[in-house]
Amino acid sequence: MKAANRSTIRYFFLWLFIVPPGVFYVYMNYPPVQVNWMYAAVFTLFGFLTVYYPIVRNGTPVFLVLWVTVPVFLLYGLFVEMIIMQISIFALLFSLPSKMPFMQRFFINSIIYFLLSIIAAIVFDIVGGEIGSLEFWSVIFAVFCYQFVHTFFNDILLKLYTTYKKIDSPFFSKDLWVDYAMILVMLPLSLSLYYLLQFVGAGTFLLLGIPFFFISLVIRLYNNSEKVNDNLQQVGDIGHGLAGLLTENEVIDQFVEKVADLFEAEFVYLFDNKDGWLELVRSFEQGKYINLDLAHLSSGQGIAGLVLQQNKPAIYSEREEWKAISKDYSPDEMQSVLCVPISRNQKIEAVMLLASEKKSSFADYQLNILDLLCSYFTVSVEKARYMQEAVMRSERCALTKLYNYRYLEEQLAYEMDRLKNNAIDNLSVVMLDIDHFKKVNDRYGHQSGNDILSQFAKKLESAVPVGGTLGRYGGEEFVYILPGMSKEDAVEFAENLRAEIGGHSFEILPDLDSNRHPLIVLITSSIGVSSAPADTDDAMTLLRNADRALYLGAKQAGRNRVAEYVK
Ligand code: GH3
Ligand code: MG
Ligand code: MG
Repeated sequence: MKAANRSTIRYFFLWLFIVPPGVFYVYMNYPPVQVNWMYAAVFTLFGFLTVYYPIVRNGTPVFLVLWVTVPVFLLYGLFVEMIIMQISIFALLFSLPSKMPFMQRFFINSIIYFLLSIIAAIVFDIVGGEIGSLEFWSVIFAVFCYQFVHTFFNDILLKLYTTYKKIDSPFFSKDLWVDYAMILVMLPLSLSLYYLLQFVGAGTFLLLGIPFFFISLVIRLYNNSEKVNDNLQQVGDIGHGLAGLLTENEVIDQFVEKVADLFEAEFVYLFDNKDGWLELVRSFEQGKYINLDLAHLSSGQGIAGLVLQQNKPAIYSEREEWKAISKDYSPDEMQSVLCVPISRNQKIEAVMLLASEKKSSFADYQLNILDLLCSYFTVSVEKARYMQEAVMRSERCALTKLYNYRYLEEQLAYEMDRLKNNAIDNLSVVMLDIDHFKKVNDRYGHQSGNDILSQFAKKLESAVPVGGTLGRYGGEEFVYILPGMSKEDAVEFAENLRAEIGGHSFEILPDLDSNRHPLIVLITSSIGVSSAPADTDDAMTLLRNADRALYLGAKQAGRNRVAEYVK
């Protein structure tokens, strides 16, 4: 904020030393003659309107203001032209979204257009142009030079400015020729205005003004529909991209990034609707994700909460409009805001807030586009969730959420391959079976047995070493696959596990008798260990070995013990 103020002050002084003295100098040396004030007023209005409603091309405005300022220059000379040009560019400040502080934009544009007026007038003079002349060919030639130089230096000055500010400017990337092609339109138009005014008088303004503004309106509409078309095409591409992703997180990330890009929003926040409370799930600022620890927003709280409560989108063009509503957090540079509910089957699933550093950055027509994008998003999230669940079901056990038998077998084959390719030196398998688990079921009920199984699974899961895999092999049998672990280490690992389990209190709430209260259950387990390459180099044999060690070595020897496979 402070830095912005400082540079505004810098530009103010630059402006102060150039523009007012320059204008005064011009007034003293080239005073206007016989100004028709009614005409001047209409010219000023036309200039203002031309700049206020620019024909937007690729986001870069083409100002056709020369069609107004050239006749002014030809009629009344440099001084009046300058003044009307300065008033016209003032309109620029109101019409286009920008990050730059208001006054700073005025100073910069004022200086640039002041210089352009001077340079063009000098060239006009050099090539023999004369104010008020009616001689056809010499006027055409001089005006052509005037407009060419104006356009040329406009591009040069903007280039200098953008290089100085190190901003990427679209001015030079493409369609530069359009600026020059516009001379072909401006030249006849401005000269028609100039000549006709002398022959027809004030009626000329209607004669040329009506078609000019009408045509620029049509071009604007055409441009807008081109833009919508373009956006729709992008939305289609984004939608297809989202639909192809397999996990919910990928879908959310890609959605947030693409929306930020498409809507040129420096800030994107996505809230999940959790029973009327908004939880922030993504915050994307200036092209990267950041971690924000925000409290949940209730319905009606903050911009997003209001959107949730009212179930309709909100658009704000600048900070002043939402400052009072906003809750807790908003970056200083945030100006325009677009916030929408994201619904699926009449239920609001999420709320998304886009914000830009520019004022008036979001337009109504973008709501429809965003809406379309959101429906792609919700469908894609749903699909990804379904896919994830299907994958999960196919490789996980429903009760313990551990990997199932199928997955264990695949993983074991994979690790055995790695062993054969010398990616690892050892591969151990540790198999556990709970002792007398049938009795637990008989005494406390099947449900309590299940509860113990899932607690047991959690306990085992917390012991999985890096790179290891744990799965539920069968009823109350579990298997660890331990790549890189020698038989000796695996036995030690198993022994620790056995001691840990035996000392743990499992808590259940049995439902067999009528007065339910929590009960502590102690259980023990028997464990078998086998390793490759020590015992075998075949995956299935490795499992069978561990099984044999478990039953012959541990269970039959009295349970609650670890046994390693012996040939
Ligand atoms: P031991 O292994 O010490 O020989 O005795 P055990 O009672 O554990 O015997 P066994 O391994 O033959 O029986 C396993 C029992 O585990 C049978 C079944 O009642 C119980 N069981 C298996 N799967 C589940 C399950 O998903 N939930 C519950 N509650 N019990 C299960
Ligand atoms: Mg058992
Ligand atoms: Mg068993």
